[in-house]
Amino acid sequence: MEKKLEQILTQDTFTKEDLVRMLAADEQERTLLFARAAQIKEQYVGKKVFYRGLIEFSNLCGKNCFYCGIRAGNASTHRYEVTPEEVLEAAKYAYDNKFGSIVIQAGERSDKKFVSRISELLQQIREMSKGELGITLSLGEQSEETYREWFEHGAHRYLLRIEVSNPELYGRYHPNDKKHDYQQRIDCLHTLRKVGYQVGTGVMIGLPFQSLEDMADDLMFFRDFDIDMVGMGPYIEHESTPLYQFKDELLSKTDRFYLSLKMVAILRIMMKDINIAATTAMQAIDPMGREKAIKVGANIIMPNLTPTSYREDYLLYEDKPCTDEDAEECKRCLEARIHMAGGQIGYGEWGDSKHFEKRRKS
Ligand code: SAH
Ligand code: SF4
Repeated sequence: MEKKLEQILTQDTFTKEDLVRMLAADEQERTLLFARAAQIKEQYVGKKVFYRGLIEFSNLCGKNCFYCGIRAGNASTHRYEVTPEEVLEAAKYAYDNKFGSIVIQAGERSDKKFVSRISELLQQIREMSKGELGITLSLGEQSEETYREWFEHGAHRYLLRIEVSNPELYGRYHPNDKKHDYQQRIDCLHTLRKVGYQVGTGVMIGLPFQSLEDMADDLMFFRDFDIDMVGMGPYIEHESTPLYQFKDELLSKTDRFYLSLKMVAILRIMMKDINIAATTAMQAIDPMGREKAIKVGANIIMPNLTPTSYREDYLLYEDKPCTDEDAEECKRCLEARIHMAGGQIGYGEWGDSKHFEKRRKS
């Protein structure tokens, strides 16, 4: 007979079947799952939610992922790069408002000019904040040399989502060429760790052809890699992308949202002391999406600090929220929301992954 959810929730380790069972929880069972995750979060990482001010530095991208609205092949996107002055201004805003950390994210490029521009920015941000602002990068696959250069210039965390841990599925969401190679992405995650970064990865949830078994594999991938941070959220279709043709085969947006919440909750139960982000894509489906994610296990939030004039162009998917709010409005709104979700904001702290600290010490 199938195990009861209550019984699974008393365990400390989980089989793939257990994970699938938790992912399949019905509405009533879901409440139990979320309560257990909330309890573990409180015990291991506490109430604090840490800010990572997000700067969407550029939507220029050399890749063609089938799901992404800023893919190179989307000719209808107006391309931009934020000026160094504006990046510094946004970083200063984060520093002055005690955000603790920022994230610099962009489409993937690895030309020399781009690499050195990022290094220069890192240096300037370090000087401006006297090294106090934590810096996360999310700039895709790069050579070891580049990862090292950026690390030496002050970046200390890196986000590189595996997107989907099943290599076969990876092949269905990406062109079949050297630029979009599953193994290469895995190798990059290893290189990042070797260089010394706190490494984050993640997946999209509710992609076409993806099953609950695949999502259980994603969770096991995070565990087996012993990852420090995870950012994951629902897949949201974008009209000008190849994957849009499968839009009628998708789960409803609400189902994708609840699956994402379950993924966050289960991961918190599995990996008690890692950092888990409440991602913007969750808010794109449910206006209170990020707060709900915080309630069931997430402890990181990424307020958008991209200058408003660029935001409409960083459209990875449809209905991306807050494209018209400025940083000040965003800050006030978030503060209220986090308090409503029972969280406290870790102002002025880096909020590094406890899991990372523990592994480094051992
Ligand atoms: N170019 C870098 C970082 C920017 S893209 C990289 O690819 O790593 C950041 C993330 O946006 C991707 O990792 C992907 O998971 C997410 N994303 C892209 N298209 C999406 C979509 N249609 N729905 C949900 N998330 C999407
Ligand atoms: Fe480029 Fe990242 Fe979008 Fe892929 S997901 S097309 S690498 S921005």
